[in-house]
Amino acid sequence: MSEWRQDPFTGRWRIIAEGRSARPDEYSVRAPPPAADPGCPFCEGNEARTPPESAALRPRNLPADGPGWTARAIPNRFPTVSRDAPPSMVPTVPPFERAAALGVHEVIVESPRHAPDLAYLAPEHLASLFRFFRDRVGAARTVPSIASVLLFENRGPDSGGTLPHPHAQLVATRRVPSRIEEERAAFSRGDLEGRPGCRLEAVVESERRAGERVVHDDERFVAFVPFAAEYPYETWIVPRRHSPTFAEADDRELESLARLLPAVIRALDAVRGRVSYNWFVHEAGPPARGADPFHWHVELAPRIVRPDGYELGSGVSVNPVGPEAAASDLRPAVAEALGGSAQ
Ligand SMILES: [Zn+2]
Ligand SMILES: [Zn+2]
Repeated sequence: MSEWRQDPFTGRWRIIAEGRSARPDEYSVRAPPPAADPGCPFCEGNEARTPPESAALRPRNLPADGPGWTARAIPNRFPTVSRDAPPSMVPTVPPFERAAALGVHEVIVESPRHAPDLAYLAPEHLASLFRFFRDRVGAARTVPSIASVLLFENRGPDSGGTLPHPHAQLVATRRVPSRIEEERAAFSRGDLEGRPGCRLEAVVESERRAGERVVHDDERFVAFVPFAAEYPYETWIVPRRHSPTFAEADDRELESLARLLPAVIRALDAVRGRVSYNWFVHEAGPPARGADPFHWHVELAPRIVRPDGYELGSGVSVNPVGPEAAASDLRPAVAEALGGSAQ
C-alpha cells in the first residue's frame, strides 16, 4: 500500500511505499573498516600528510601538527568551496549567471585512531568532540560574508564519503543553500496554523501527541522519524530549547546530543546492520540570534536505497520503510543503546 504524505514543515510531498521494502538484499550491510591503515592521512602520526591544522584538541604543551591530539580541524584538501577569490573570473553573460564559490571547507577528524567510528567512541571523548564541533561552527560563522554553515558527516561507501577514518566536515558559504533556504522560509511562516511561534516546536508537539514516530524523548531532546520521512529510518534530533544556531548550544545540550546521536546510530546499526549514512546540522546562518525563528536540529539520513529514475525525474522521494515501522524498530534499540552508554 503506497501513500502520499506531505511534510508539515516544508510542504514537500513524498511517497511512502512499504510494499517495496521487504527486500533485505537491498540493504547494504558492510563490514567495519580495518582498525588501522598506515596510509591514512587522518591517523595519528601522519599529521604531515594534511594541510596545517586550524584548531585541535590537544594538551597545551604539545606543538600543533604533531601527535597527542584527540580531535583535529584541518582545511579540506579538495574543497567544495574556495577560501580565496580567483585572480579573475569569467564575467556573467545573461542568462548564464555565475559567481565564485567562496567559503570555508574544513575536515574535523574525530579521533586519532582509524576505528571505531563516531558512534562507538568513548562517552567522555564524544562530549569534548561535540563541544569542538560547536566551536568550529562558531568560528566559521565569524568569517566575513559567510551566510550559512553546514556541519555534516558521511559514513560508509553509499554516503558519498571517501575516507573511512572517522571525520565530520563543515562547509560555510556566502550563499544560503536551497535546502536551508526552504527551511528558513517554513520557519518564517510561524507555527503550523500560521500564528507567531516556532514551526518545528509545533511539529515536535504534534509528533509527541501522536507518539507513534517518537524514538526518544527527554528533557533536552526529542528524536523522531518524520511523518513524511524522505529516507528509510530518517531520524530528526531536535533540542527542546529554541535557538537558531548550533554555535549557541550549551554544554549540557551538547553532552546530551553527544550521547543521543551516537545511540541512534548504534540503534540503526543494530536494526539494519552497518549501513551507510549522513547526518547534518541545520541551523540559521549568521547573524542569527535568539529571536530568529529558525530552530537548529540534527537530521540523520540512512543511505539504504538509491534514488531511481522516478525519484530523480519527479523530485519526489519514495521511502520504502514506513516511518511508524521505522520508529517502532528504533525505539527499543535506542533505549538499549542509551542504557549501554550511560555508565
Ligand atoms: Zn586513519
Ligand atoms: Zn523553536
